[in-house]
Amino acid sequence: MAANPGAAGGLEGAGAGVNRPALEVAGASRRFGDTPALDGVDLSVAPGEWVALLGANGAGKTTLMRAIADRVALDAGSIRLAGNPAGSPEARERLGIVPQRIAIYPHLSVRENLAVFARIHGVPPARLQERVSEALDWTRLEDRASDAAGTLSGGMQRRLNIACGILHEPALVLMDEPTVGLDVPSREQIHRLLSDLRHRGVAILESTHELETVEASCDRVLIMRAGQVLASGTVGQLAQAGRLTRHRCRVTLASEPAGVQLPAGFRLHGRRIEGQVASIAADLATLLEAISDAGLEVVEVSVDPPDLEDVFVHFTGEPVAERPS
Ligand code: ATP
Repeated sequence: MAANPGAAGGLEGAGAGVNRPALEVAGASRRFGDTPALDGVDLSVAPGEWVALLGANGAGKTTLMRAIADRVALDAGSIRLAGNPAGSPEARERLGIVPQRIAIYPHLSVRENLAVFARIHGVPPARLQERVSEALDWTRLEDRASDAAGTLSGGMQRRLNIACGILHEPALVLMDEPTVGLDVPSREQIHRLLSDLRHRGVAILESTHELETVEASCDRVLIMRAGQVLASGTVGQLAQAGRLTRHRCRVTLASEPAGVQLPAGFRLHGRRIEGQVASIAADLATLLEAISDAGLEVVEVSVDPPDLEDVFVHFTGEPVAERPS
């Protein structure tokens, strides 16, 4: 997983105290009727730390985010932002929210949107133009500054949406699926923006179903189910905690075989043979021997440790969640 440069250092301009967690959630619980949307959640996020919140649909991710933003009241427990109770004016100042649904004014220009959100977030008038210029530069939208926001591409609108949520330099940013539905280049651009935020000491809590990008960018994952935190840590730590020792093994053949007798646990997909192995040396040797006996040619072999999907399935007992529609 990614390094966490900001967590060890101080905070540049984000307003929180040094060494104080950007977010502390203790015993957070909330029921809706019989449903425990949050059931004793504990979580601490350091300045500059990027935490991905994972869980199947209905796990409680949105409710946790909404409670942090003081949009849902807790039945029990507490939430503090840089030491300040959620909902207090000090906590609000330190919180940035980037909603999944793009929340910009389509008929206003990009620059006007930034100025409006800067005012909403209480950026002092003397700093407003400077913050708007910085945001245009940061999002690489300077050449579209005078265009109506509604005419931007989907990826550009998301960049603008993120900028609108962080103009007041919050210490903690909540993001609900910031890259959902975007193509790969747009996703990468957004991850660059988020990575830059983290380098400035901003803590990020991101709810996502995109496991493939989480491993590359986030410092830590938190897996939720039925309102509870099932596990928290890097993929390596979680694989160790779950005693996931099987490696993914893939052998690519020069051509699709007419027939081959594979050892138990391996399956053929076109030219590729895939399986999970407990002992790389013994199981891979058995497979390669079978391939050799069949007179087939191998062009590539790869062996990978358990990934985030393996960890997710192990802890939740569920397949990777579908994105909410
Ligand atoms: P998704 O990935 O689908 O967005 P989630 O992990 O964000 O799911 P939540 O939206 O937090 O899950 O929902 C957790 C549980 O609480 C669900 O069973 C949901 O139906 C329930 N819930 C959330 N908000 C309310 C509400 N306002 N009234 C009733 N039930 C609610």
